[in-house]
Formats: sequence, C-alpha cells, structure tokens
Amino acid sequence: MEAIKRIHHITAIVGDPNENIKFYRDVLGLRLVKQTVNFDDPGVYHLYFGDEDGNPGTIITFFNWIVDRPGLKGSGQVGRIAFRIPKGTMGDWQKHLNDLDIKTQITQLFDKDTLEFDDVHGLELALVEGNDESDNKAIIGFHGAVLLSSHPEATNELLTSGLGLTPIQTQGQSYHFETVGSEKHHVITALPPSPRGRFGIGTVHHIAWSVPNLETLKEWQSFIQSQELGVTEVRDRNYFKSVYTSEFGYIVFEFATDEPGFAVDEDKKDLGTSLQLPPQYEHRREEYERTLPKLDL
Ligand code: ZN
Repeated sequence: MEAIKRIHHITAIVGDPNENIKFYRDVLGLRLVKQTVNFDDPGVYHLYFGDEDGNPGTIITFFNWIVDRPGLKGSGQVGRIAFRIPKGTMGDWQKHLNDLDIKTQITQLFDKDTLEFDDVHGLELALVEGNDESDNKAIIGFHGAVLLSSHPEATNELLTSGLGLTPIQTQGQSYHFETVGSEKHHVITALPPSPRGRFGIGTVHHIAWSVPNLETLKEWQSFIQSQELGVTEVRDRNYFKSVYTSEFGYIVFEFATDEPGFAVDEDKKDLGTSLQLPPQYEHRREEYERTLPKLDL
C-alpha cells in the first residue's frame, strides 16, 4: 500500500460560528470553503476553511457547538495544530496577532521556531515557517500536528510501519515524523502520555489522512481491520468518502479521499457562500435555516 502523503483535514469542536469565522477568515486569512451541517448531528454547523481552492492538506473544519461545554485537552486527541507560513514571515505574523491582543510565544515544538497561540475558543494553534518565500504572508496549508497518544509507542509504530511516515528526529521523549508527500506534514508525539482528554469546545475531534480514491480507501479499511482496530463502513461525506478508526492511542484517525472535492455542489467562485446540505438532509433545509445562527459573511 502506498504511504500516506499528507493530512487531508483536521476537525475540531469550537463554539459560536461567527466568532469562528471571524478568527479563521479575518485573523488567519483562510477562506470559508463550505458551510454545511454535521452529517452525524445535523443540528449544528460544520464549517470548512482552507486555501482559495479548498485543496486537501489545507482544510481545517469545525463542529460549532452552541452549548457551552468546554472540552479537556489530553491524550486520545490531536493536540496543537500547526499551519505553514512563508519563510521570513513569522515576525509579521507575531505582530499581526499581538496587535489583535492574541497572546503568542515562540517555542521549538516542531524542532524549529514555532509561533504558538490559541484561537478564540481555546483551540491550540501554531505557525511554522516553510522553506519557500512568498510575496505575502498568507498561510500555505498545514505544517503538521501534535498527537496526544495514550500509547505513544504503539501510535508511533502505526505511523511508521502502517501509514509510512518517516521518523526524522527524536529529542528526549518527543518523536518527530513527516509524511512522504511533497507537503511534508510534520507529526509530533511525546512520552509520557498526558491524562485522558474529553471532547468539547476547544479540542480536536479527529485528524484525517489523505488517500487518493475509493479503491485506496477500501485498502486502508482492510489494513485497519488487519491491525485488529475497529473501523467504520465507508461513509459518504459528500466532498470525500471516509472511514474512521480509534487508533492504539485512542486518537480518532479518519482516512478521506481527495475526490470529489468541494466544487461538487457549488461553483469554485461561490465556495462557502451558502448553506449546502447532502441529499439526506435537503428536506429539512427550512428547519435548519430557521434554527441555525445567521452567519456574518
Ligand atoms: Zn473528518
């Protein structure tokens, strides 16, 4: 089986959708590429942000809970999420965030300068410079993520022997891997595991690994079964097809196809401008439009 080349998307649980849009669109400069509902819990929004075209590898998505139920960050979850910025732009980004009263600190989390900050709902984020310069400071896509595994050795083994990530550095008890694709997404795990987390506002729900198509997705589904991990049936997410598993360290891993993408139900130029519903929920459109908060677009 071909190694995983990149992260497809990461999904987190946050609060008010308008605060969420304000942060990711206006502060971080991402594009809202899809507004739909959570297909498994359609009373709440599922908002997708990414680059201009909504390319896999740039997509962060949110379940916008309206109830005030903060989560607990801990093992069995994805931890800090890092975006990649052009070389030489970290200073500009730090000033931009600080001017908006967003607290930042520079650490070495990703084994190079890592600008850490939190989003408006307490989700842990970071910016890391890539190798290429650009004429602006816009986010390029993901740089990577921290995995807070409950069983880091087993997760590390799955990442390398299973998903085909390359170990690039071990520093003390922190392990650093990268994907083999051109994006070179970075994944960090650490020992010892932190106490168990609990889903809620400000926590990551899952990380999705990119696979090319339905055929490869089914191969990954069989592979997960062969590891004696539970795996779901293939689910149709409208913009991709997916399977889910809770891996050895209890982190929810999704495998998601690059096909068909976000232009399947609206023109590229209109991405994210109106509520899109999958066929099974279209008959409830009137109800959603009445009950879901109005978005400031
Ligand atoms: Zn997902």
